[in-house]
Formats: sequence, C-alpha cells, structure tokens
Amino acid sequence: MTKIKKLLVANRGEIALRIMRTAREMGIATVAVYSEADRLSPHVKFADEAVCLGPPPSNQSYLLGDKIVNVCKELGVDAIHPGYGFLSENAEFARKVTGAGLIFVGPSPESIEVMGSKLAAKQAAARFNIPLVPGTEEAISDISEAKSRANEIGYPILIKASAGGGGKGMRIVESESEFEEQMQRAVSEAQSAFGDGAVFIEKYITSPRHIEIQVLGDQHGKIVYLFERECSIQRRHQKVIEEAPSAVVSPEMRKAMGEAAVGVAKACAYYGAGTVEFIVDDKLNFYFLEMNTRLQVEHPVTEMITGKDLVREQILIAEGKPLSFSQEDLKIHGHSLEIRVYAEDPKNNFLPDIGKLVTYRRPQGPGIRVDDGFEEGMDIPIYYDPMIAKLITHGENRQDAIDRMIRAINDFRITGIQTTLDFCRFALQHEAFVSGNFDTKFVEQYFTPKMLEPAFTQEEQELLAALAVEFFQKEENRLSPIHPVKALPSTKWKNRLI
Ligand code: ADP
Ligand code: ADP
Ligand code: MG
Repeated sequence: MTKIKKLLVANRGEIALRIMRTAREMGIATVAVYSEADRLSPHVKFADEAVCLGPPPSNQSYLLGDKIVNVCKELGVDAIHPGYGFLSENAEFARKVTGAGLIFVGPSPESIEVMGSKLAAKQAAARFNIPLVPGTEEAISDISEAKSRANEIGYPILIKASAGGGGKGMRIVESESEFEEQMQRAVSEAQSAFGDGAVFIEKYITSPRHIEIQVLGDQHGKIVYLFERECSIQRRHQKVIEEAPSAVVSPEMRKAMGEAAVGVAKACAYYGAGTVEFIVDDKLNFYFLEMNTRLQVEHPVTEMITGKDLVREQILIAEGKPLSFSQEDLKIHGHSLEIRVYAEDPKNNFLPDIGKLVTYRRPQGPGIRVDDGFEEGMDIPIYYDPMIAKLITHGENRQDAIDRMIRAINDFRITGIQTTLDFCRFALQHEAFVSGNFDTKFVEQYFTPKMLEPAFTQEEQELLAALAVEFFQKEENRLSPIHPVKALPSTKWKNRLI
C-alpha cells in the first residue's frame, strides 16, 4: 500500500478542478498541466504546481503521454489521474505510467483494453451470462453473412464501431437495401476516426432508455454498485440531462442491474471506478451496451444520492486500500439531477457558440452544486469540448430536484455566448420528462428551436415593458405623493439620497 503524496491531473477544465479539490482535502499536493489556451484557467491557478504542455490542440498538449510522464519524474509526482476523455481510456498510456513506477488512478491496462473494444467487452460479458442486445459477436468480415444475420435480427439495425465512443461511430440501417452502402461507410469512418475499422451489428432498440450503473472495485476483488443513473435525455447519442435514481427502476430491477454490472466488472477483473452502460427497452428488459473504464461526466448525481466522493474512492483504491463499505451500507438519499451547460446555440442547430463569458454568475443555495472550470471574462477555447459547466441539484424527491434545477437555471447568469440553459429548462418542464415517461428520442420527438422563442414578439415585449414602467410610475405616485427623490432640485442632493 502506497500513500499518494503528489498527484498530477492529466486533464483540463471542470474535471481537473473537481479532482484537485478532493486531492487537497486528502492532503495530497496537486500538479496541473495545461495548454497555451488554458494558461489562465482556474485549474491552473488552483494547483500547487502547473506545467505548460504546449500549443492548444490536444495532440500537442493534453494527449502527450510521454511528456506528462516526464513531468511527473521531474516534479516527484507519484500518481496520475486522467479524468475523462483525453488519455483516460488509453491502455498504452496506463501501461507507460505504471512502467515508469507511477500509480495510475484507474483500472489496470488490461481492463481498459478489454472494455475499450465494444466487441471484446461483449464477449467477456457473455461469459458471465449478462444479457446482450442481439447482434454479431465478432467483427464483420463477410458482408453476405452479416446481411443474413441482420435479417434474422430484424431491421432496423445499428452498425457500430468496436472502438467507437463519445456517441460517434454508429449508423442506423432501416432496411436491407441500404445495408451494403451503410456498412462501407461505417467501416471507413471507424478506420479514420478510431484507427480501427472493426464494426459489428446490433438490433436497434426503437424506444430505448439509457440507464447505467456506477461500480467501484478495490484491488482485493471486492466490487460494489452505487445504483443507477438515467441518461436518456440525449442529443446525437450524447447525454444532456442525467439523474439518479431513475424514475422507472424498481428496487428489484435495481438489484438485478446492479448485480449484472458487478458481473461485467468481474469479467475483466476490474478495480477502480467504472460505469456499466445498459440499454433498456420499453418492457424494461435491460441489455449490456459497454463499460466506461473511467470517471464519468455525470458522476456527481451518484455522489449526491450516495454521499460518497467517487474521486476519493478512486484515490484510495489506487493506493491499494480495501473498500471501507459494503453493498449493504449503500443507500439512496433523495434525488439528484445534472444538466450539461454547453456553449452551443440551441436555436441554431446546437452549433458551438464560442466567445467571451461577459457575465458569468453561478446559482447558489441549498442542494445546488456547480462543477465548472471558467470565470467571468474568460474566453471559451475552440479547441476542446464546449461544455462550460455542470449544474447539479439534489432534493428530497424527484420533483424537488426538478423545481430546484429550474430555479437554479433561472439564477444562472451567462451573457456573451449562447448556452443550452434554456433548452434544458424546456426539457425539465416538459410533461414527458416530469412524468418520467421518456426515452432517448425525447429531443427529436419534442424539441424544435421555436419552443425557446418567448411567448411574445420583440415588439410585444417592448410594449409590455413600456406599460409596466407606466404602471409602476403611477403606483409609486399613488403610494408616495410627495416624491422626495424626483422633486429634489439639485443633483448633488439626489446623488446623496440615492
Ligand atoms: P460520459 O460517457 O462520461 O457520459 P461522454 O460520452 O460525453 O461522457 O464522454 C466524455 C468525454 O470523453 C467527452 O468529452 C467525449 O467527447 C470524450 N470521449 C469519450 N469517448 C471518446 C472516444 N472514444 N474518442 C474521443 N473522445 C471520446
Ligand atoms: P458510446 O461509446 O458512443 O457511448 P454506446 O454504445 O454507449 O456508445 O451508445 C451511445 C448511445 O447510443 C446510447 O446511449 C443509446 O442512446 C444509443 N444506442 C446504442 N446502442 C443502441 C441500440 N442497440 N439501440 C438503440 N440505441 C442505441
Ligand atoms: Mg456509451
């Protein structure tokens, strides 16, 4: 068992800051790395030491694994936390880190490797009798064989890149006639985006929910699940709103999914924090999708309902400590929601809207948490993910968490760029969301940019504003007939009174 004394966080933005906060609470010194675009970022200011890696593009900065390992040697760092994205699911990097005598805060390189390939992951899960979406077990090498399998499964089907991630590398095929063309496109896309042309097919579940299970495993073989997160509100297969617990998961289903997730983790001798993703059909059958071998963007909702700090647990596990609690100790407290606030314009097809955060004021109050990596006046760099903040609320029950989130959205003041705040408010107030009766098609089904337009036109709004001013002036006159401020002769006195 090694005590970590100095931790380098190989990431940027909100997640770098979030990890360093926990490290500091644990008495661990922190080292930030940054690109030239992030020189003034809060994660750089927060860290005890900070090292510039290079120019803004990720492949010249945050993805330079060797350089990061060298920084560790120079600064006497003993562990690296990779956060999410960037090098977090790169088995070769994890191997380099351990090879250099450093601790990788994450699972073993072997677990990353198995779960990094969706096909290998499914094969491992199948050995543990975990339910899988019907599909091919191997990468497709023979088109006519694949076609006959697709006919057996029934259209629509999904062609997926085995190495895909971040919602990319998927193609829906509606009928046999499109099969060959879509297959060729999928292979060439997978090759160019992920450097691996292996694709497979899966039945396309038409009204699916995405529900995932958080797991934690120590290096002594103990694995527990920290319940589910509902992530069905998505756009382009990317999550937008997440919550815990799910409105449709019963205690029995929770237990079954939790145990299946622990099975998947066991299938790859997993340790660390990980997420087992399932797709759930309209009859609430669940099927294993993939495992993410890292801390997830939406991990805070699990922290809010379990009271566990997942980064702290990751660090303790990496030090070799046994988990200090068992499955029976874990309980769900209340309900939590997270929205991802992006610098995107929902009225303009969600195009990134990069620029300066002219005004940036966070909401506050009980049950509200903001994980972000920006300050007022900063520019959002164009080089990375356009997420500005994660807004998280906790309440006694689902409706409390929703009401609190809407209040928090209304109190979040961001000007200078367009954000997805209004879009999230629209989703949270929608009857389908409130009732819990929704699936991953929610945005497609219910959202049009028109819905974000105010109920009144610009002209009507101006007229209303003018009427309001008149009304309040009359009201003021009625209540204070002497009008002391207005009646004052000199501006000198007026200024003093004000
Ligand atoms: P999560 O799975 O944690 O909910 P995302 O799917 O949005 O979150 O992924 C987290 C981050 O990692 C995002 O910035 C996403 O773009 C990036 N990412 C995930 N997988 C990959 C991948 N295979 N290749 C490139 N980027 C990825
Ligand atoms: P990624 O690595 O990009 O996260 P996933 O396999 O986790 O890939 O899928 C991302 C999303 O795509 C899911 O959350 C779900 O919305 C959708 N999806 C994936 N597989 C299926 C399927 N078989 N049927 C319907 N939707 C799917
Ligand atoms: Mg996924």
